Amino acid sequence: TYVIGSPCIDVKDRACVDECPVDCIYEGKRTLYIQPDECIDCGACEPVCPVEAIYYEADLPDGEQPYLRDNKRFFADI
Ligand code: SF4
Repeated sequence: TYVIGSPCIDVKDRACVDECPVDCIYEGKRTLYIQPDECIDCGACEPVCPVEAIYYEADLPDGEQPYLRDNKRFFADI
């Protein structure tokens, strides 16, 4: 799955939302989130993000790991 990291916070450009073919990018209070069970790993969202906030999960930098947890928490709550 792809994961949205810290650069999205308080930006929420939404260019990725328009690209996603399965509409699996959801809006939280301060950032957007990718629903991991719905993401088909197409990669379409990654290049359109103006702040390069989207990472393939396996390529997530160490400093961005908390956002993976935040993502899981977000979808556990809704
Ligand atoms: Fe949507 Fe594809 Fe991005 Fe997954 S990788 S969130 S399916 S655009």
